[in-house]
Amino acid sequence: MIPFDDRDGLIWLDGQLVPWRQAKLHVLTHGLHYGSGVFEGERVYDGHVFREHDHAIRLQKSAEILDFQIPFSLEQMAQGVQELIQQNNIPNGYLRRLAWRGSEMIGVSAQNTRIHLAMAVWEWPSYFPPELLQQGIRLTTSDWVCPPPNAMPIASKAVGNYMIRTLSKHKAERLGYTDALLLDWRGYLAEATGANLFLLMDGALHTPTPDCFLNGITRQTVMALARRRGIEVVERHIAPSELAKAAEVFLTGTAAEVTPVGRIDDHSFAVGAVTRQLMADYQALVRGGDDALVI
Ligand code: PMP
Repeated sequence: MIPFDDRDGLIWLDGQLVPWRQAKLHVLTHGLHYGSGVFEGERVYDGHVFREHDHAIRLQKSAEILDFQIPFSLEQMAQGVQELIQQNNIPNGYLRRLAWRGSEMIGVSAQNTRIHLAMAVWEWPSYFPPELLQQGIRLTTSDWVCPPPNAMPIASKAVGNYMIRTLSKHKAERLGYTDALLLDWRGYLAEATGANLFLLMDGALHTPTPDCFLNGITRQTVMALARRRGIEVVERHIAPSELAKAAEVFLTGTAAEVTPVGRIDDHSFAVGAVTRQLMADYQALVRGGDDALVI
C-alpha cells in the first residue's frame, strides 16, 4: 500500500498545482481539531468527471451548512479539475476535493479562519473488492445510528459525519463483513457507511427517504435510470424486518457505483436481473458522458 502522502503527481491547493508531497498543512489547523471540513468524492471516466457541476454545488452547500464559503467559483473549480486530470494523466480515477478552516484560530469559535481548498485525483478502480461483486457484498447492521437532522449537519458532506461510519466499518470488517448497514435514529433502514441503499420488493425499487443521511448523487441518478426502465421507485421509511421480503439489494455511490449486496446479517439476496440491468445502465451512462439525464 503506497501512503497517500508519498506519491508522485500534482495536487491542486488553493488555486495552484503543487508537487504531491508538498501539499501539506500545519498541525494547528482548525479543520483537524474541530472537524470543520467538507469534501466531495467524484469519479473520472474517460477524462470526464461524472456530474462535476452537481458535486461542486454540493461542496458549496456543504460548506454553507458549516457556516463558511468556498473561496473559489464553480468555474475556477471546474478549470482546476480539468488541469488536475490532464497534468496527472488520470483519465479514469477518483477525484477528492476537501475544504477546511485554517490555522488562524484554534478554538470552538472560528469566525476568522481562512478557508482552504485542495483537490487531488488518483486511480481507484473498485471501491469494494471486485471478487465479491459476483455474489454481492456482505453487510452487518451497525450499533451506530444515523442521528436526527438537528443532531448533526446531515445534509453536509462534512468530515465529522464520518466518525460513526469509520467505527461501523471497522467493526464490520473485524467480524468478516465487507461493510456495515446503519439504521437511523428511529430504527429505520438508512444506508451503508459510504453508499445509499435500494431494495427490490415485488418488482418495485424501495429506498429509504434521505432525511437524516446524504441524498447521494448516484442515488438520484439510479432512481432516474430505474424510472427510465419503467421500474417503480418508492422513497419511504423502511423497517429492518422488511429485508425478509427483498429479492435483490444493492448500494449506490460515486465510489461504489452500483454494488450488489448478497447478505445483510441473516438475510440473503440474489444478484438478480434488476441489479445487473442498473449496473449496466449506470456504466453506460457514466461512460457515455450523458450528464443530461434528468434527476
Ligand atoms: N452516503 C454516504 C455516507 C457517502 O459517503 C456517500 C458517498 N459520497 C453516499 C451516501 C453516496 O453519495 P454519492 O452518490 O453522491 O457519491
